[in-house]
Amino acid sequence: MYELKFDEDMCFACGTHDCLVKCQHLDLDEDMARIELEKFINSEDPWVLHDCVTCYACEEYCPNGNHPFYLIVQKQEELNIPPLPEPLIKQGVQLGIPFRGEPEIKEINGTALNMGAFSVLTNRVQSRLFEGLTIMSDDPRKMFHYFCQLMYLHYAKTSVINERLEKIIATIAAHKVKKVVHFHDECYGTYTSYAPAFGIDVPFESIHLFEYLYNKLEELKSDITPLNYKVAYQRPCSSRLSPDKHLFVDKIFSLIGVEPVDREYVDENAMCCGATILGQRKEGRRQYCNEIQKNNIEDMKNAGAQICVFNCPACMQTLGKPVGKSGIMPLFMSDLCRLAIGEKVV
Ligand code: SF4
Ligand code: SF4
Repeated sequence: MYELKFDEDMCFACGTHDCLVKCQHLDLDEDMARIELEKFINSEDPWVLHDCVTCYACEEYCPNGNHPFYLIVQKQEELNIPPLPEPLIKQGVQLGIPFRGEPEIKEINGTALNMGAFSVLTNRVQSRLFEGLTIMSDDPRKMFHYFCQLMYLHYAKTSVINERLEKIIATIAAHKVKKVVHFHDECYGTYTSYAPAFGIDVPFESIHLFEYLYNKLEELKSDITPLNYKVAYQRPCSSRLSPDKHLFVDKIFSLIGVEPVDREYVDENAMCCGATILGQRKEGRRQYCNEIQKNNIEDMKNAGAQICVFNCPACMQTLGKPVGKSGIMPLFMSDLCRLAIGEKVV
C-alpha cells in the first residue's frame, strides 16, 4: 500500500494557496482556496473535487512541491466523486489492463527508448535522432507492458495506478537497463514525479524526450538547416509534472532556427487540449471545451504561428485536427526536429 507524501501543515502555513488561486478552470480567491483546501484535507466534500477538470496544473502552481493534484485525485477516489462518468471509467480501466501474455525481455546495454502506450508510433522514431537507442515497445497482441498507467489520474484511480505500476517498473528493470528515454511525457512524469510522491522505488534513470532531443541535435548540429518557422507549443497536462524540463522547448527551437510565438497561453499559463473536459460529459462541458479550444487556437493564430508542436499523442489526437483546419500545421516535436536535420516526415 503506497501512501502519498503530502504535507498538510505546509498548506495550513501557506501564504498564497497558489495551487487553487492560479487554477484556470475554477474561480477561487485566496480565502476560498484556503477554505476548500482545508475541507478536502479533512475529507469533507468541497466543490473543487466535483468541478476539477483534472488538468494537472496545480501540481506545477504549488511552489513547495506539495502534490496538490495527486491529493485531489486521491480524495476524489476516497469520497467517490468520479471526474468522468462511471461507465467510461470502468471501460477505460479495463482497456489499459497490462500483462496480457509475457513480455519479451532482452538485456539492454546502453539507453532504451520507452514507447509506453504508443507502440503504434514506433515508425515515428525510425530516425537518426534515435539511432543507438534500444526501443522498448509492445507486441500489439500482448499490450501494455510499458503503459505507465498515469492516465488514470483523469479517472481518479490512484489505486489502479499503484496496483499496476510496480509490475511495469519491474518489467522495464528486467531489461537490466540503466537509462530510459520516455517517448511520452506522461511516462517521464510517472517515474520522476508520481512514483517518488507515493514512495514507489524506480531502479532506472529517466530522461525527458526534449532533453534527449536537444542533446542529440547538439551532436548533429552540422546537419541542421534552420527551419525559419514561427511555432507555438501545446503543453500536455503531464508536462505540469516536470516543469523543470520546459526550458528545453526554447533550447530546441533556438538550435533548429524556429521562433517561438509570443502568445497568452504559454508556459505556466498554457491551456490544456480539452480532452478530459469533453470526456466529463457534464452539463456545459462540451461548450466549455469548444470555447477553450477556440481561444487557444485563436491565440496561436493571432501570434502568427505557422506550426503547432505537440508533445503528447493524446493532445495531438484531440487538437491536431482543429489546429490543422485553422491553417496551422500540427507536428510532433520529434518530427519538427527531424525536418531540421533534413529527414522527410509523413
Ligand atoms: S498545495 Fe502548495 S500552494 Fe497549495 S496550499 Fe499547499 S503548499 Fe500552498
Ligand atoms: S487539476 Fe486543474 S482544474 Fe483541477 S484544481 Fe488543479 S489546476 Fe484546477
